[in-house]
Formats: sequence, C-alpha cells, structure tokens
Amino acid sequence: MGTRINLSIPEANSEAIFKLLFNRAQVIEKRMSSQYQDSEVSQINRQAGLGFVRVSADTFLVIKTALEIAQRSNGAFNPALGPMIQLWDIGGDNARVPAPKEIEALLGLIDYKQVSLNEPSLSVKLEKSGMRLDLGAIAKGYAADELIKIAKEAGVKRAIFDLGGNIFVFGSKTGTQAWRIGIQRPDQDRGSLMGILEARDLTLVTSGNYERYFEQDGKRYHHILDSKTGAPSQSDVDQVSIISNRSSMYCDALSTTCFVLGREKGLKFMQQFPDYQAVFVGKDRKLVATGNFDRALLIDLESDFTWAPQQSN
Ligand code: AMP
Ligand code: MG
Repeated sequence: MGTRINLSIPEANSEAIFKLLFNRAQVIEKRMSSQYQDSEVSQINRQAGLGFVRVSADTFLVIKTALEIAQRSNGAFNPALGPMIQLWDIGGDNARVPAPKEIEALLGLIDYKQVSLNEPSLSVKLEKSGMRLDLGAIAKGYAADELIKIAKEAGVKRAIFDLGGNIFVFGSKTGTQAWRIGIQRPDQDRGSLMGILEARDLTLVTSGNYERYFEQDGKRYHHILDSKTGAPSQSDVDQVSIISNRSSMYCDALSTTCFVLGREKGLKFMQQFPDYQAVFVGKDRKLVATGNFDRALLIDLESDFTWAPQQSN
C-alpha cells in the first residue's frame, strides 16, 4: 500500500498505544501488499493456475469482501485487475500507455469470477496462470477499521486516523466540537481544499483522479482502471467520497467503485448500501449526493463547487 499513516490521539499519554497501532498496520500491509514478494497476496499470485494458498483471517476477509463488491457492482470493482495494473504501472517507475494489443492480451486474465475461495481452510486460488490480485482499493480501509478497534479496546475516547486518505474519526474533537476533515479539491495540488466535513464517529474515504497519475502527450492517466477497457476509467466524476459510521473497508471499496461507475450508475449502485453515503464531485464541479447524506455537514464549500438538485436514495 505504501502510504503515510497519520494517527492523532489527543489524550494518549504513552507511546505504547502508537506502537501497537503501527505494528498492526504493518502486519496488514505485509500480508496484503503485492509490493512485498513474501506477502500472502504475492504467494497467491505466484500460485496462479497451480493451487490454493492458505492465508490469514485478515487477508481472507478482505478478499472475500472485495469479491462481494465485485459481484454487486458487476465488475466495476475488480480485485483481479492485477495484471492490467502492473502493465500500466501508474505511479511507478515504468508508467506508460500500453499498446492496445498488450491490453487485449490481458483482458482474459482479469476475471474476478476466476478467484476461488475455500472458507473452511481460509484458502484462495487464482484459476488461471498469469492472474494477479490487487487489494490496493480496499486494504487501507480494512487497516483503518482494525486500528479503530484496537484504539477503542485500549480505552481511547477520541482520535483521528488518516491512512493515506482513508480517514476514521471517533469521539469529537472537544466535548462540543466535531472533528473537521478537509476535502481536497480534485483540480489542484494537495492541500487546497474544496470544503470541510464536520465529523463525529465516522469514516470518510475518497477516490480521486489526482491521487496517482502520469501524463503523456498532455493527457492524464489516473490509477483507477475500467475492467471493460483495461484503461483508466472515463466517468463523469473527478472524485467520490463515501461516508459511514460502519466500515472503512466498505467505504474504501465503494469509493473506488463509484469512481468507475460515475454519477448516475453510482447513485443507483449505492441503493444497495443504505448505511453508506456518497458525494460525487462531477467534472462540471457539480456535487451530487445520495439522499441519506446530510449536506449541512459539508461546510466552507468553495464557491465554484455547487450542489445539483438532491437525488433520492
Ligand atoms: P483507491 O485509491 O482506493 O480508489 O484504489 C485505487 C487502487 O486500486 C489502484 O491504485 C489499483 O491498485 C487498484 N484499482 C484500480 N482500479 C481498480 C478497480 N476498478 N477495482 C479495484 N481496484 C482497482
Ligand atoms: Mg478504494
């Protein structure tokens, strides 16, 4: 996952809790990142077409959830996109626009239905040689859920955790004041905000086309791919945020899915997840949210972003 983690616990008076949290985050990363040769995901990838690999309960749950979202989104979310992600290498040293032939050659190797699970033995198999899992769109959310669980068990009453854009807050900042989470403008450098979300006890995950990309011949190629074309998705949104008081893992997966689906299909898709709220930022700078989103929580909205009429959820 290779992301920065920022953990803030105002009342923590010992280093021990931070150590516990960072260690847990590291264990999860070392199990699920395809960057580590000996991660569980890398082992599954090496055994593609050969056999089942037994994994930890952590990794099994994340893969199972990823496949659930893949099914429910009809493949817009796809944890089996690994070969295509490797080909484009967006954000990596070898990023380039592949030839159409190269993309075509991999289209048969990105079918999430060819990922087999054996729950009793916590085992996973990729049915075809050359397949590759990539949990980059969901693993950070799982890590955020786990860290919050640990902090709560340790008696922490208020905290804000940021795992590379997967934000989880609990409690309030002070007795009366909510936490304030800055929402990045999709069209400017990091740090310029589009608005602020006032939050208590919730997780917020954003997927955007500015997070990781490269430019070639004046065109921007971002890191979220459409399985149908094998290329960066071309929907009508620049950014999607998902908010919930439930699971950051679901928020993470749903934000990536909605980014691929775009506004209209994304709103429809979200009807399956009444505990999750979505805000879509269109390329036209119009904001659309699911009907269960309380607009009053989004404050200090920059004047060039405006709300489209409220949709029903
Ligand atoms: P996120 O920033 O959570 O939206 O996740 C983006 C990352 O997920 C990318 O860097 C890829 O590793 C992976 N990815 C790209 N496209 C997809 C997709 N359509 N479904 C699932 N994972 C994807
Ligand atoms: Mg995601």
